Amino acid sequence: MSEADDLALFMNNYMNNKINIFNRVKETVNADQVASYYGLHINHNHMAVCPFHSDKTPSMKIDARYYCFACGATGDAIDYVSGLFSIGKKEAAIKIASDFQIPVNEPLSEETIKSINKKKSAYLIKKNKENTQKHFYLIVTEYYHLLRKWESLYSPTSPDEDINSLYVEAEQNIPLIEYIMDCFLEADINERDQIIKIYKGEVNKYEQRIKKYTS
Ligand SMILES: [Zn+2]
Repeated sequence: MSEADDLALFMNNYMNNKINIFNRVKETVNADQVASYYGLHINHNHMAVCPFHSDKTPSMKIDARYYCFACGATGDAIDYVSGLFSIGKKEAAIKIASDFQIPVNEPLSEETIKSINKKKSAYLIKKNKENTQKHFYLIVTEYYHLLRKWESLYSPTSPDEDINSLYVEAEQNIPLIEYIMDCFLEADINERDQIIKIYKGEVNKYEQRIKKYTS
């Protein structure tokens, strides 16, 4: 699971008010603490002989999570115990909670709540940013395609013909749109925010044009 998925799952649990045994165990113990408790020798480079394949030299890197460079075994404290004892994730979490005396039914500490709230607002801000950026890029590209269509549909065929205003709009705006798209694709998440601020007015107009011509 990626970090983002992990956080999404965490947030989902949080919003449903279900801080469960998994979360409690994960926030209390790391893979290396759990592994050495159950007998794994970890050297000073955080390397250990992997218990998930017949390993001779230390192939497993282990700290908060573990990763074996030989067999690819990877995960957190709960995955480790689940693999080591061939038990389910839930059983593994319960076993860790009981062996490490992690209280799972007490109310959350103030510190934990603070950290959850911090994660929550960071997560929501990031989600919000991503949605705004997706919307911005969608509008710009849709308008771009519209202009490209007008450009080929209405390009003048003889010098004395009246030039179609949609053709003029295309010719005037295509270079700027291409520039905005280039900048946007090369920018990171914070730079994209700046680009959106700068071109907000234009993009609102583009949105109106799209609504008028494509509904
Ligand atoms: Zn391994």
